[in-house]
Amino acid sequence: MKKVVLLGSTGSIGTSTVKVADDLPDRIRLVALGAGNNAELLLEQTRKHKPAAISICDPARAKGLQAAVGPQTPVFSGEEGLIQLATLPEADIVLIAIVGTAGLKPALAAIRAGKDIAIASKEILVMAGEIVMNEARRHGVRVLAVDSEHSAIFQCLDGKAAGSVRRLLLTASGGPFRDKKLWPAEKFPEITVAHALKHPSWVMGKKITIDSATLFNKALEMIEARWLFDIEMARVSVVVHPQSVVHSMVEFVDGSIVAQLSTPDMCLPIQYALTYPDRAPNSRVQTNFAKLGQLTFEEPDVARFPAIELARRAGESGGTLPAVLNAANEVAVQAFVNQKINFPQITETVQRTMEAHRIVSQPTLDQILEADAWAREKALPAL
Ligand code: NDP
Repeated sequence: MKKVVLLGSTGSIGTSTVKVADDLPDRIRLVALGAGNNAELLLEQTRKHKPAAISICDPARAKGLQAAVGPQTPVFSGEEGLIQLATLPEADIVLIAIVGTAGLKPALAAIRAGKDIAIASKEILVMAGEIVMNEARRHGVRVLAVDSEHSAIFQCLDGKAAGSVRRLLLTASGGPFRDKKLWPAEKFPEITVAHALKHPSWVMGKKITIDSATLFNKALEMIEARWLFDIEMARVSVVVHPQSVVHSMVEFVDGSIVAQLSTPDMCLPIQYALTYPDRAPNSRVQTNFAKLGQLTFEEPDVARFPAIELARRAGESGGTLPAVLNAANEVAVQAFVNQKINFPQITETVQRTMEAHRIVSQPTLDQILEADAWAREKALPAL
């Protein structure tokens, strides 16, 4: 039985994780649930799963929830609340599915308390991958990937060291604007939020869906892969695969390529992270190749989607630059969702902010947090 702390329980990954726990009551127990603002859903989840503790962002909402759940379930709030949950003595593993970087300090607290962590929040590894992975090594805990691509690579590597790898091949759906004839670069300023939220193969939270449309999602994943698998950026490549069935591949030094495949469903990588090293039977995911018919691959269009090259530059330069890319992107996505900037301005904002940044090499956590704050200010000062 794995005792799981779930941070971000009310989101897309969070609710899929709850489904996985429902499927496997003999293997997974949710011992703590943390949410942002959705008190109603958190209350429903608490009544059903009876965790030892819960947390919500706003202290006033926490008070209301405490009255509703009764004294046997402590209700925490704010970042401190997430840290309380992440270090709960009975927890084995902490799954972090909070959008953005709010999960960074709870992730580090969990590692220092000796817990394994399962990371959906790729922004954490982009911002502070070296620090997180070094801390995990120091404390002898596992960092497991929840992102389907990184789960795939982890499964393909099967414990082989980076030295046996020629390159990692991250697959990308290409997003809703992959078709150059339908969406030439000249039409990008006309892209609306509704257009960008129509992902061809996955149903996900707003931020990652917009990131998939700009290809910043793949950009973040390239840097995430660099840290998770301790491999330099030059050996991390991207191939567009619109069917999203091959979740990623590893090409070994002998030229052999190993891939992991399944119909797209986030429950599968979540379940794998929570049951690892075991595989638990589950009939949720079924793949019918005859029905799929074909699997296709193409080069990413870096001219229309410069995010890939920006990620390569950030990953190769290292230091504080990935944190700057991530923070500027977060600000720009929010501005696009609020209709303050247009679609191409998301990428322009990230590029401009990266160019203005003076990189700090081998940064401390405080220097990373400073760079993050600097980029948020610098990205769109007029808004
Ligand atoms: P959602 O927007 O659906 O959910 C975000 C979750 O984070 C919600 O539970 C939200 O709470 C919570 N949250 C937001 N801010 C805070 C905060 N300050 N403190 C505590 N909780 C907070 O996002 P997704 O589930 O789509 O994505 C989550 C992460 O997983 C992202 O980093 C994304 O890149 C990654 N990911 C997502 C995939 C997917 O298929 N969705 C696939 C792979 C990775 P509330 O709703 O209560 O406000």
